[in-house]
Amino acid sequence: MAMAWPTDFPGLGTGAARLAQRIEAMSGGRIRIRVFGAGELVPAYEVFDAVSRGTVDIGHSAAYYWRSKLPEAQWFGAVPFGMSVHEVNAWLYHGGGLELWQETYQPHNIVPFPAGNTGVQMGGFFKNEINSLEDFRGLRMRIPGLGGEVFRRIGGSPANLPGGELFTALQTGAIDAVEWVGPYNDLAFGLHRAARFYYYPGWQEPAASLEALINAEAWASLPDDLKAIVRAATEVTNQDMLCEYMARNPAALKRLIEEHNIQVRPFPEPVLEALHQAADEVVAELAANSELSGRIHRSYREFQQLLAPYMEISEDAYAKVRKSLSA
Ligand code: CA
Repeated sequence: MAMAWPTDFPGLGTGAARLAQRIEAMSGGRIRIRVFGAGELVPAYEVFDAVSRGTVDIGHSAAYYWRSKLPEAQWFGAVPFGMSVHEVNAWLYHGGGLELWQETYQPHNIVPFPAGNTGVQMGGFFKNEINSLEDFRGLRMRIPGLGGEVFRRIGGSPANLPGGELFTALQTGAIDAVEWVGPYNDLAFGLHRAARFYYYPGWQEPAASLEALINAEAWASLPDDLKAIVRAATEVTNQDMLCEYMARNPAALKRLIEEHNIQVRPFPEPVLEALHQAADEVVAELAANSELSGRIHRSYREFQQLLAPYMEISEDAYAKVRKSLSA
């Protein structure tokens, strides 16, 4: 297994390692997986090609990293202002999303499965305060995928760097801001030692799905029971990683604030409005990119619209009521 993250990196790397351990334990050792961090076998952004060619049997990564070769992959990583983690998992497993994902990767000799989720991310670490849209103009920020394109539309200068390069880029001033994941992961990379302002919410990644990529021949070579085991292990990992983030983010945020004096700020409303408007454009353009992209977009949008009235009287209503009653 080649990962797009460093070995043992909290959440992403540890989650992928547990996926490998689960498959080995559930199969009674009939499948053994050796896990390699980014750069050990292949660089982070070459995991897709390595799985496609069969250099490795499995990869663990994020779909939006493949945007230049496969724009449709971006629907399965994170959609700015798109579905939340509960919504997107419902779409993937029970709304036709996973079938579309597998159709998208099929010509590349890869069978993908959801295999982890960070939940809603943070908006990122910024060296300077963001008080208006003007403060985004010319800003150099590490922000990949559709979020990066949205950021470019409102005057920013997006860069896509692998996680392992973020701290140095921020510290040396090569970039002014970084969105990576959230407190648990951002603390681990020490981003707070290079920037002071921590913005929310993570409009760019309301639910970042991670993926297990399996080489199609390797997959086809498995008997049905091992296929069932691998698939089930990815499903467990998809939920388990989310739980790890949910459990670890709050304590990491507390440390950032109390021990490192990080200033946590909401993005100003006009900035979010501009980002939202630009996101609509970017999403519409991606949908118009190909027949397949249009089909994925329709499926995604219809599912989100189907859920919206129910979310309003269930998850959203409950969160509001609990907040107001415990205030
Ligand atoms: Ca991110």
